[in-house]
Amino acid sequence: MEQSFETKAIRGQIERTQYKEHSVPVFLSSSFTFSSAEEMASTFRGETDATIYSRYSNPNTDELIQKVCTLEEAEDGFATASGMSAVFASIAAFLKAGDHVIASRAVFGSTHQILTTILPNWGITHTYVEPDHVDSWEAAIQSNTKMVILESPSNPGLRLVDLEKVGAFTKKHGLIFNIDNCFATPYIQRPSKYGADLIVHSGTKWMDGQGRVLGGLVVGKAEMIEKVRFFCRHTGPAMSPFHAWLMSKSLETLAVRLDRHCSNAFALASFLEEHPKVNRVWYPFLSSHPQYDLAKRQMRYGGGLVSFEVKGGMKSGMQFLNGIKMCSLSSNLGDTRTILTHPASTTHSKLKMEERTAVGITDGLIRVSVGLEGIEDIKADIDQALNAVSY
Ligand SMILES: *Cc1c(COP(=O)(O)O)cnc(C)c1O
Repeated sequence: MEQSFETKAIRGQIERTQYKEHSVPVFLSSSFTFSSAEEMASTFRGETDATIYSRYSNPNTDELIQKVCTLEEAEDGFATASGMSAVFASIAAFLKAGDHVIASRAVFGSTHQILTTILPNWGITHTYVEPDHVDSWEAAIQSNTKMVILESPSNPGLRLVDLEKVGAFTKKHGLIFNIDNCFATPYIQRPSKYGADLIVHSGTKWMDGQGRVLGGLVVGKAEMIEKVRFFCRHTGPAMSPFHAWLMSKSLETLAVRLDRHCSNAFALASFLEEHPKVNRVWYPFLSSHPQYDLAKRQMRYGGGLVSFEVKGGMKSGMQFLNGIKMCSLSSNLGDTRTILTHPASTTHSKLKMEERTAVGITDGLIRVSVGLEGIEDIKADIDQALNAVSY
């Protein structure tokens, strides 16, 4: 019988040391020793899996990677210092000058900056496509297209990409299927089922889930990860062993945390849908979501994020945040604490109005990362702040 997700997340751990510790120790050691010149030489030839140096690998990052690979049903992986270094490595390890990328228009802000500002300096171009119309992506293919980059659900519009269609599309055209699975986590959505080559995570969000550490992961097919490992080994974005230890511990509670995040998020979304000060609510598991059927097909639950539009635009959005008493105003997400963001005045304020509108960020849009506080307290705080909005 195959073990459950929860069991794998808790019992998948490295071998115990001579102390037979129950919890995994932290290996704060930059390098590791060898008992002979021969052992050292064969390790450097890649003939043993002994640990050499913590920029390449470390028992704690190894343990974390192994666990994430089990949960994502991926063959191999590499742990990085942040989600963005994982995103960057997953691109830079594969592309060269002259290559072209097809990217879903609704990607994380810094991923957008990599595509639009950094990669063009190195002669790598991209075409943005609509996340919810994979059938139209054919038109974006060029003879030099190498990779498809996407997120599902997207931030903060919570638009979905049909992963089965992307799998067929990338296979047909021989493109690398690169997905940022940070918003869903492997508990909610398993991109490897659809043929994803590279699955990227910001572990900073739901994986750690407690707002403590930055970290990222790239997992996927072994021959792909070989290139990511080479790139990271020599460019140096390694994750700290301490952060890997924390994140591996956090994964032990990922399923129970997400069960509650998702049930709180669904309850909040349903409440907001009935609220007189709210124009619209986006949540994948609300039947009003335009891709509700797809959400039910490819996701276990709707996730921990809810977006809604306060009536009255920019002024109301800011007034609403100023009325909040308990929840946090922060740009982060995936924490035990409920976090509110007003993208138009913060995370997406550098985008032009047309660019914002194209990804569904209206002036009154609020993103809620629903926490683990009592749902009645979350609803009450948001309700009183909404009621105080005048427009
Ligand atoms: C936060 C985030 C990132 C970047 O992760 P960091 O750990 O902050 O570098 C990338 N993708 C998505 C979808 C994110 O939410």
